[in-house]
Amino acid sequence: MVEMDCLFCKIVAGQIPASIVKKNDLITAFNDITPQAPTHVLIIPNKHYLNMAEVANSDLKLAGEIFKAAGDLASELGLENYRTNINTGAGAGQSVFHAHLHLLGGRSFAWPPG
Ligand code: AMP
Ligand code: ZN
Repeated sequence: MVEMDCLFCKIVAGQIPASIVKKNDLITAFNDITPQAPTHVLIIPNKHYLNMAEVANSDLKLAGEIFKAAGDLASELGLENYRTNINTGAGAGQSVFHAHLHLLGGRSFAWPPG
C-alpha cells in the first residue's frame, strides 16, 4: 500500500528516484541522500509502517528480514565494522515516518552516540 504523502512509499513505488542497492518482495535498501558515513544505506519495509517497533509488532518476520538485509549488505559491501541505527520519534531524530534502519560504515563511530 502506498501512503500518498510518504516519501519512502514513493521510493518503493518508483515514483521518486533513489540509488537502490537491494530490493525484494519485502524490503528495499537505498543510499541515504545525506550520507553520514562513506556507506550509509537505509533499509525499509516495502509496506508502510510508522517505525520499526510497529513493524515488529505487526510482522515479526518482516522485522527479521530488515535485520538480515543489514547483515547481508554489510558482508556484501565488505564492512567489518558497521553501525545499525534506528531513530524512533522526532525527539530521537526520526524525520521520515516510514520505518527504516540505517546501516552506516566506512569510518569509526563514537560511543555514546550524540
Ligand atoms: P531519520 O532521520 O532516522 O528519520 O532518517 C531519515 C533519513 O532519510 C535521513 O538520513 C535522510 O537523509 C534520508 N532521506 C531523506 N530523503 C531522502 C531521499 N529522497 N532519498 C534517500 N534518503 C533520504
Ligand atoms: Zn510509507
